[in-house]
Amino acid sequence: MSPVNIADNIAQVREDISRFAQGRHVDLILAAKHQPLELLIEAYTAGGTLMGHNLIDQLATATAGLHGADIHPYTTVIGHVQSNKLSVAMRWADRIDTVDSLKTAQRINRRQEARIASGEATGPYPILLQLNSSGASTQFGCDPESFVELAHVISDLQFVRIAGVMTIGARGSEADIRASFVLTRHLAEQMRELPGLEQADVLSMGMSGDLRLAIEEGSTVVRVGTAIFGARPMQSV
Ligand SMILES: *Cc1c(COP(=O)(O)O)cnc(C)c1O
Repeated sequence: MSPVNIADNIAQVREDISRFAQGRHVDLILAAKHQPLELLIEAYTAGGTLMGHNLIDQLATATAGLHGADIHPYTTVIGHVQSNKLSVAMRWADRIDTVDSLKTAQRINRRQEARIASGEATGPYPILLQLNSSGASTQFGCDPESFVELAHVISDLQFVRIAGVMTIGARGSEADIRASFVLTRHLAEQMRELPGLEQADVLSMGMSGDLRLAIEEGSTVVRVGTAIFGARPMQSV
């Protein structure tokens, strides 16, 4: 047992989610960065079946460790991926949630075509498009002005499937945070009017500190680390 009670924390977060969601279903991705394998196993056992990784090296070792324990969570990448790590990311993750350029989507497309040819994969690789909804120049994500056009060109790629949109909320006042989620929802709605994207209905927004606002503004999945695992063992991203 870890000093924090992960099962209790997951139950508490789920209770918060359902209170804020008022009957809508909202999923929970565990933000796994810097957590040791034992805690990920503990969290999975306590019902946390979706995992999100920022660090591609940790994605690979943790997911291999989980598979070794016969644990197969649905795993996504929630941090920026450098192009030289894309193929490792695709090998270990079921979805990449941080695609913010045509170039990255084209690389995923080429890689997935090769994976299909070699029998490693079937069908297009799922992605979320990351929007920079806060205007902060330090954030990754496509700018709001180019977002729908980016979705349009990426939707033409044969071996990539856009499943929805991801954003990191603004920092600052409640009004600023809410505005960034409202913007994300509006652009996601516009995106879904594009041909072939009617089903791209994942809206990944909300973390420990802004869960309520994100869910009130239509989030379909939140990414939670601190409220479940406590403070990270090694503070970085
Ligand atoms: C770390 C991280 C989270 C979780 O943040 P907490 O505040 O610990 O809940 C969510 N999303 C992304 C992209 C992250 O990097």
